[in-house]
Amino acid sequence: MSSWQVRHAAAAPFKYEELFDLHANEVPTEYRKLSSDGISTCMLPSGEKLLKVEAQVLEDLTHQAIVDVQHLFRPAHLQMLSNILKDPEASSNDRFVALELLKNACVSAGKVMPSCQDTGTAIAMVKRGTHVLTDGRDEEFISRGVYKAYSEGYLRYSQVAPLSMFEEANTKTNLPAQIDMLSQHGNTYDVLYIAKGGGSANKTQLLQKTKGVLNDKAFTDFVTELVQGIGTAACPPYHLALVVGGLSAEQNLKTVKLASCKYLDGLPTSGNKLGRAFRDLEWEEKIRKLSQELGIGAQFGGKYFLHDVRVVRLPRHGASCPVGVGVSCSADRQAKAKITEEGVFLEKLETDPAKYMPDITEQSLEKGGDIVKVDLNKPMEENLKYLSQFPVATRLALTGTIIVARDIAHAKMQDMLDSGKGLPEYIKQYPVYYAGPAKTPAGMPSGSFGPTTSGRMDQYVDTFQAQRGSMIMIGKGNRSKDVTKACQKHGGFYLGSIGGVAATLSAKSIKKVEVLDMEELGMEAVWKIEVEDFPAFVVVDNKGNDFFKKWSKEAAKEPEADSFFDEAKNFFHGLDKDQNGKLDVNEIMGGLQITKDKAEKLVKQFDVDKDGMIDVKEFELMLLKSDAFKEQLHS
Ligand code: SF4
Repeated sequence: MSSWQVRHAAAAPFKYEELFDLHANEVPTEYRKLSSDGISTCMLPSGEKLLKVEAQVLEDLTHQAIVDVQHLFRPAHLQMLSNILKDPEASSNDRFVALELLKNACVSAGKVMPSCQDTGTAIAMVKRGTHVLTDGRDEEFISRGVYKAYSEGYLRYSQVAPLSMFEEANTKTNLPAQIDMLSQHGNTYDVLYIAKGGGSANKTQLLQKTKGVLNDKAFTDFVTELVQGIGTAACPPYHLALVVGGLSAEQNLKTVKLASCKYLDGLPTSGNKLGRAFRDLEWEEKIRKLSQELGIGAQFGGKYFLHDVRVVRLPRHGASCPVGVGVSCSADRQAKAKITEEGVFLEKLETDPAKYMPDITEQSLEKGGDIVKVDLNKPMEENLKYLSQFPVATRLALTGTIIVARDIAHAKMQDMLDSGKGLPEYIKQYPVYYAGPAKTPAGMPSGSFGPTTSGRMDQYVDTFQAQRGSMIMIGKGNRSKDVTKACQKHGGFYLGSIGGVAATLSAKSIKKVEVLDMEELGMEAVWKIEVEDFPAFVVVDNKGNDFFKKWSKEAAKEPEADSFFDEAKNFFHGLDKDQNGKLDVNEIMGGLQITKDKAEKLVKQFDVDKDGMIDVKEFELMLLKSDAFKEQLHS
């Protein structure tokens, strides 16, 4: 048989199967009808029915969808928050964050304050039926709806246009929107609307792996590192999506986005030889459990780093194995819509989130951790001294004045320093909060005003603190090792504010907002705010402790040396040549480079259990009793 015959004899018969079969385990969506206006049908001579959709319908539907997702949540998302409050295994910090997120949902359901100050990039993923007739300018009319929602509501404009490679300007409309148009058979017009925040989008990653990762051990190790590397800057608890395979990198990442929005929940749950996409329920559960054991929790320690997980397995080229991961954050903002001959329908989101608030008081959440009140109007040095008594993860209630400044304001302050002008007094006198408000509704002190990702300001910390600026910083997410070092060197603190609760922070804790400096920067200006019982947690203290350290990649590469005792242990294991967990006279003599006499004397003095050797506890005792040894250890 020739090689041509071999190749063709081996081919399987042609069979078409949809790659993404969303109906295999269809989960029903509850819709509300918006209108029937602008919808009509007509018949073709062939007897096929066409659905005619007026352009205004697309504009109105998009406007309503964006307004809804900015203020309302899916019932399932709220139920998950409510479940955290009822779980006795949840940490008190988990429960506190969950309660704040539920309160936030109640405030934003009033449809004035958006649930988060980052009102995101508007995304519309459209599937237009082949028998649907529009005027063809769908993208333009969808954009008009986005414009209306952002310009009329108290939403923030986040889109910046590149004027040249390095010059950018805010478009002041939140346009452009991302609009993806696909076609499908039939006469239905389907859309998935998403408002995706920057911090949340930044957690999306693509890794080009190989088949080497496709076995239980390697995959578990890989996924554990991947999940803990996501960090908390995108306001957990997350809905996590992991996609393994894909016919291209872009297909993988689009699947991540759709899976994180629960759009692919109806997929089959097993693979087949045609290569269909499927959900791997077993790995979804394994990853959820694994995340609980990490201990990161809902931002400040505990069990609820993730609400849930979607794992989708896709076919792939044999020489390429893309793996994509992404999250939907605490601003879990998406809604499905459909236009049929019956009318225009939008997914029903929860308008009464209060019903998910269990019968629980803040006092009952306080078990396991006192709330420390901090008066920010006291002198900075006094507050630094006060804070230094509390360990990381301590819950605080801040009252007083805070300065709000973010990226551009920090860059400008750096310029002032570089040009010899020095830092403004306000950044030395008060704590700095990394945030930027959404628009302020009439009659209210502030628009939605939640924290932004602090990591972007890491580069300024050492320099500013050397001038006694930014001594107390407030933001969300983890910081780099350099920030921990700077705080240790200069006596500073980094406090974590809860991400994803911007509406409630503004409604409850922010009493006054005024522009203080750099007004020309708009949302990025320097603001002065007055807060009352503003919730925060000690994340980095002035002693070199970082709450997030054990989950950071940097830490994984470094030996742990958190305390004198950790160092002692490392030192002990270095001396224990035969690795029997005990040090004999020879090991002490060689390791510490002392005479045999001295080594014997030490063993005699500290060998509490009289077995002729020093174990690790005895070694610690020996070090504690001897300043000389401590010095030797550190040298
Ligand atoms: S909840 Fe956090 S990550 Fe999500 S959009 Fe708001 S600030 Fe960004």
